[in-house]
Amino acid sequence: MAVIRKYYIGDILWLKKQHPCGSHEWKVVRTGADMKLRCMGCDREVWIERRELHKRVKKVVLSMAPKEEEE
Ligand SMILES: [Zn+2]
Repeated sequence: MAVIRKYYIGDILWLKKQHPCGSHEWKVVRTGADMKLRCMGCDREVWIERRELHKRVKKVVLSMAPKEEEE
């Protein structure tokens, strides 16, 4: 059973693949079925499907999840 982690605006995510600017860190700026991320290195913004994002995230650097929703 695959648990899809919830993401919150303001989360900082470390993606497996490095952006051309050299950064691995992306900030969540919009949530939903399609997520909008902003590169922490160059401020470029991209849209990505949540399930696709889930495959690319290596770790969550900073989570904005409310405490009661943490597992
Ligand atoms: Zn970048």
